[in-house]
Amino acid sequence: MKRQGGNGPVSVLPTMTPGAAAASKPARAEPAQQSALGFPGTLVEDWHQRAIGKMGELVEGSRALSVFLDACVKCGACTDKCHYYLGTGDPKNMPVARQDLFRSVYRRHFTWAGRWLPKLVGAKDLDESMLEDWYTYFHQCSQCRRCAVYCPYGIDTAEFAMAAREVMDTIGLGQKHTNEVIAKVHKLGNNLGLPQPVLADALAGLEEDTEEESGVPVRFPLDEKGAEVLLVTPSADFFAEPHVDGLIGYAKVFHQAGIRWTLSTHAAEAANFGLFIGSYENMQAIGLRIREAALELGVRRIVFGECGHAWRVAYNFLNTLAGPLDFLDSAYPVPQHMVEVTHDLIERGALTIDPSRNDARRVTFHDSCNVARASGMGGKAGGQFALPRAVLRAVCNHVYDMHRDTIGEATFCCGGGAGLLGEDMLDVRVKGAMPRMRAFEAVDEAHGITHMATICAICKSQFTKVFPHYGLRFDQVISLHHLVGDALVMRR
Ligand code: SF4
Ligand code: SF4
Repeated sequence: MKRQGGNGPVSVLPTMTPGAAAASKPARAEPAQQSALGFPGTLVEDWHQRAIGKMGELVEGSRALSVFLDACVKCGACTDKCHYYLGTGDPKNMPVARQDLFRSVYRRHFTWAGRWLPKLVGAKDLDESMLEDWYTYFHQCSQCRRCAVYCPYGIDTAEFAMAAREVMDTIGLGQKHTNEVIAKVHKLGNNLGLPQPVLADALAGLEEDTEEESGVPVRFPLDEKGAEVLLVTPSADFFAEPHVDGLIGYAKVFHQAGIRWTLSTHAAEAANFGLFIGSYENMQAIGLRIREAALELGVRRIVFGECGHAWRVAYNFLNTLAGPLDFLDSAYPVPQHMVEVTHDLIERGALTIDPSRNDARRVTFHDSCNVARASGMGGKAGGQFALPRAVLRAVCNHVYDMHRDTIGEATFCCGGGAGLLGEDMLDVRVKGAMPRMRAFEAVDEAHGITHMATICAICKSQFTKVFPHYGLRFDQVISLHHLVGDALVMRR
């Protein structure tokens, strides 16, 4: 059923300001970053012809895209549902207008009316100005799918953004942040480009710190053959705050449950930025590293740490991208989310928890868009909303939800998803975070919230950066498994 209604505490519409976000665009990928992904290094001479050819190929190969191109009736229900429109007021950030950047070119080149009567059907050529608009506004879509929840036909603008980015990469017009990251994963196995000795050193340091804090020798194993579980987690979890406290929380859970687990150098990254650029080949190459690592280490389960789009890829595609995963334990035949592991252990009474240890914290929960609208958990409808909240309530006595129009399937993106996390996009990121920040302010006013918990590495990085722009502290952002780790009563 499609949702009706508004945006919660942000329902005041912005003043529409054409061109307000036109100058905000990400840096372009350098030739070496392009070629590492199999794309031309710079804009090719026959770019127009190649772009139209690729567009035709993508539309023909995607039933969803071809239906979405024809189904829009311009009802307007999506216009005020995108956080980037609400934050910038730029009408090209209305989902339907963003789609029309692609749709108008499709009509011009692939429909009879568009070829002969272009003005009558809103058909436009892919000229240099349109290509610039594509680069700008398809990089102001975080592929969060909120617009699709409110569209009566379920039209998903994320599909347009992925297709447009793929067309642009094909003609040599890639985005630096995404393509640089993907190139690092192909070379070293993680987004940060960390070699094995650095990873091993970081994990040894975590073992020391965690033993000092908890009095228990909790292990952080790397490349250990024969472990039961391969944990695939965002590389930010190895170092950065607040991510690393989440990794400590996972390690404590595994320790308490007596589960032998390991990380892998070869697959030291859960993120799969191939999704963001719509590239099946790059997504598959990244996904295959996980399969190779699992086989090499002989694990029977694959568990994903807190990363929204990684879970989207694992949940929806890993089996077809890198499968079959028929070597896994028949009780766990598909990848699991760490939240599912912890939830199951709590349900079975396998963990001793003292939620009063988090009594100084009053917490709200941010549903990450890729978990909320592009995946599931626990094998039940709505599990992706219920399970994280059940874990949170088990480890924390003071939990308060934000407005219903801003959580669950209606959740707002953090504003930094789909490869927009670079400094070059900070202006748009801060504006795009506005709807979530307004909802946070409202729940804070009512309940005195100290922290916002989340289960996505991009959300954590984005919010720690933008919280200070809204008068909040960066350390009010917290990993769900940080709260879990702090509430666990540890034993040797
Ligand atoms: S997918 Fe998200 S970011 Fe993209 S247009 Fe829709 S609401 Fe906006
Ligand atoms: S809600 Fe759907 S049908 Fe209506 S304008 Fe938006 S994309 Fe088109």
